[in-house]
Parts: sequence; structure tokens; C-alpha cells
Amino acid sequence: MKAEHYVGGVFRSDGPAFPLISPADGAEIGAVPEAPREVVDGAVAAAREALRGPWGAAGVEERAAAMRRIADGIQARFGEFVDAEIADTGRPRAFAETVDVPRAIGNFRAYADLLYGRPERAYTTQVPGWSAGGGQALNYTVRRPLGVVAIISPWNLPLLLMTWKVAPALAAGNAVVVKPSEETPSTATLLAQVIDQAGLPAGAFNLVHGHGPGAAGEFLTGHPGVDAIAFTGESATGSAIMRNAADHVTPVSFELGGKNPALVFADADLDAAVEGTVRSSFTHSGQICLCTERVYVERPVFDEFVERLGARAKELADYGPMISAAHRDKVLSYYRLAREEGATVVAGGGAPSFGDERDGGFHVEPTVLTGLPETARTVREEIFGPVCHVAPFDTEDEALRLANDSPYGLASTVWTRDLSRAHRVAPKVETGIVWVNCWNLRDLRTPFGGVKASGIGREGGEYSLDFFSEPVNVCIQI
Ligand code: NAD
Repeated sequence: MKAEHYVGGVFRSDGPAFPLISPADGAEIGAVPEAPREVVDGAVAAAREALRGPWGAAGVEERAAAMRRIADGIQARFGEFVDAEIADTGRPRAFAETVDVPRAIGNFRAYADLLYGRPERAYTTQVPGWSAGGGQALNYTVRRPLGVVAIISPWNLPLLLMTWKVAPALAAGNAVVVKPSEETPSTATLLAQVIDQAGLPAGAFNLVHGHGPGAAGEFLTGHPGVDAIAFTGESATGSAIMRNAADHVTPVSFELGGKNPALVFADADLDAAVEGTVRSSFTHSGQICLCTERVYVERPVFDEFVERLGARAKELADYGPMISAAHRDKVLSYYRLAREEGATVVAGGGAPSFGDERDGGFHVEPTVLTGLPETARTVREEIFGPVCHVAPFDTEDEALRLANDSPYGLASTVWTRDLSRAHRVAPKVETGIVWVNCWNLRDLRTPFGGVKASGIGREGGEYSLDFFSEPVNVCIQI
């Protein structure tokens, strides 16, 4: 797959190329052009031009129709998108077929539908007698797009998370410049081809490839012509982008890292809690921002839970690799650190040996740890691998205190059969999303995002459309 920039409706590959490496076996599978500053400037200028032209003039119906054509275009090339996502990430085929590509299609369809279903947040007030002389005024609010939106996306769910921003940004009438992760450029390039075929006006969607710091990502987020930044990635990157955006006071929407807790109460359905934690900790080898890395289990069921979770972790066989050699090394360094910090390794703890071509790839074992103090770095820092630490608790208050003692606040999971407890505990967990007796059950209309170092703002349904548009009050003196 040849990665290309897409600027003002033209495919191009300016800039020095860097190799694309398969995480499944370490083979070189392509080359990616590193966008120089001029290409980023050109993309921002093309986006501005589109807003002055037909894309800026497009009404709701036209934009909704464009969203549907894009969804149809992805559907028509479903297999190519699946293959490209697998090649870049090494994920299991079933994951790409049932999660990545269907959700990308769903993202465009959902926002096409929402454009019609949207209750206009257009507040109207008539104010009689606002002045001593009895003057009257009529106020009403219209929403207008922000303008040129920079979208920076990560490698873990490349197509899904990118389209989760592109669809609402375009639906709200903005023009976008997307910079996908340098590790996963392929489905973004395919999306540009689909959008080109779908006949969107040139410059409505632009794509630039390259790295973040000192490169395309930084050029884009510090660009004076960018009106808003939507970013998903690490919290430290969010801080860097915020600093860069501060000069121009550019608004940001941030979906950042997590160190997500699960609370397992003794009254829980233990089968469901164990299987749910296998999913929440090990799906996509732990490389989903929502994955559980801290599990707190009420003491009467602690030993049984640990034994069963450890046994299930050891059974897992068909799992994908870490995204890169560097990320594999980072995760393995945490496995070593955990031992140094005094952890008991219940399952995993190293790199597997398969005896086939996968040994050239970047796999690490699903790992269950116990015995660490809450102050251990392994318990506090996001690892972003297939690993969780399990610790006991004695009371509901203690469980909440442990769960909330984190700089992060993205997602949590509560396992209990006690309805009152579920309702009591859920609002007190300091995360943007709380799942009760389930994990990653998503309705695209609901608010999605984190608190504390896990993000700023919410995505999903109306929440995304609200971020990607600005309320403007019009006041008429009568
Ligand atoms: P990352 O922060 O390293 O990179 C994300 C993107 O930012 C990439 O496109 C990268 O090139 C770019 N970038 C890096 N430095 C930049 C800079 N200084 N200026 C501009 N752009 C820059 O994140 P990653 O490793 O790709 O993804 C994993 C992280 O993303 C984890 O922390 C994970 O928790 C988080 N994440 C969060 C969510 C969420 O919804 N909250 C979802 C997925 C992933």
C-alpha cells in the first residue's frame, strides 16, 4: 500500500519517505512520505479555500448525502480496508472485520442521520422592556462551523478513531486536515481515495502523513490557519499540542490516555466478571484506551478471581502484536519494572515464542500481576499493553478511593449484582464512562471522553456536533 498525501483534491507524495514496518513479522511493507511544512501549509490553505467555495456553501442535505456516499464507498472496498488495517497493525482479521471497518462506515452513517434528527440548539428569546425607555429586543442563536479543523489520530484504532472525528467535523460543515499516526497511514490513504471518488469539493478533506514532534503534527497544530484541533493520543502529547496551540488560542478536543479501573464486588456474577475482565484487559492486546489495567476485587472473592483470571490469560493464544518494536520494548520494560517493584506474576510477564513467523513480530504475553503497592509505577502509569494488576479491597469506600486515586479518568467497569450499589458507586467513580456488568458497550449517541488527564470535552452524537460548531447569538433591536 502506497501512502500518499491528499491536498486540495490532489494526491501527492512530497517529502522524504520512511519505511512502514509490519508489527506481525517485522517485515518492511511500504513507504510513507514525511510531509514537509509546505505540504501542511498547502493543506490548510486548501481547506480554507474549500470553505470559501462550494463546500462552505453546501447545506445540510448536501453534506448528509456526502456522508452517505463516503459510507457506501468504504462499504464497496470493505476487504481492502480490512487488509490495510491488518497490514499496518497486525490485529486479528475478525477484529478489523467486525470492529474497525464497520464502525468507520457507521460513523459516517450516524452523522448523516444526526444532521436530520438534530434538534436545533437555536435559542430564541424576546426581551421586552430591556431599557428604561421600554426598548425591546429579539435574540436568536445560530450554529456555524468552526472553519479549518486539524485532526490528529493515533495508531491503535486508526480508521475508527479518525472517522469518529472526520465524520462529525465534515457533517457540521468544517473543512479538515487529517494527520494519522505515522505507524498506520494506510486506511487514511484509502479513505482519501473514497472521499475523492465520492466527489467532495476539493479541499474539504485533506490528508498529510508524517511524524508528530518537529514534523507534520506540530506544523499542523501550531498553524495560525487552523481554527480547532481534535486529537486522540497520549496525555503527554496532548500537553505538547496544547502548548503549541496556545499561541493562537486554538480550541481543542482531547481524547487522551487512561489507567482504567475495574471494581469487582463479592456479590458479582464471578463468571461474567472474569470473562469481562479478560475482554477489558486483553482485547486488541490491551491497546485500546478503554482497556482495564487496574482491577480491584473485594477480598472474599479475591483469590478465586485471581486464579481464574490468570488461568484464562494463560489460555489466550490468538492475539495480535504490539504496534511497533519500540512499543513492545516499552511494555516489556514495565513487565521488568513490575518484578523490580515486587509484583507476583500470576500469568505471562514476557514475550512469547510461537516457533513460526510471528517470532519476528512484536508480541507480548497477556499478563496478570498482583502484590504491588498503589504507589508502584506499574499501577500508576499507562502501559497500553495486555496487562492488569489485581488488588484486594474491603469496603465500597475503599474501592472508590483506590479507583479514583489516579491522574487519569477515562473509563471504569463495576461488577455487582446489587442494583443499589451499582447506582451508588457509578456516579462516584471519577471517569467519563462507567460500565456496569459490561465493557465497551457503545451507543454512538452517548457522550464519550475522559476527565482529569484523560481528556477535554466529549465526543459522540450531539456532543461532537457541538464541539465542531460555534453558537452565535444574533440580537435585533425592535
Ligand atoms: P501519540 O500521542 O504518541 O500519537 C498520537 C498522534 O499524535 C500521532 O498521529 C502522532 O504522530 C501525533 N503527535 C505526536 N506528537 C505530536 C506533537 N508534538 N504535535 C502534534 N502531533 C503529535 O499516541 P499513540 O501512541 O498513537 O496512541 C496511544 C495513546 O492514545 C494512548 O495513550 C491511548 O490511551 C490514547 N488513546 C486515547 C483514546 C481516547 O479515546 N481517550 C483512544 C485511543 C487512544
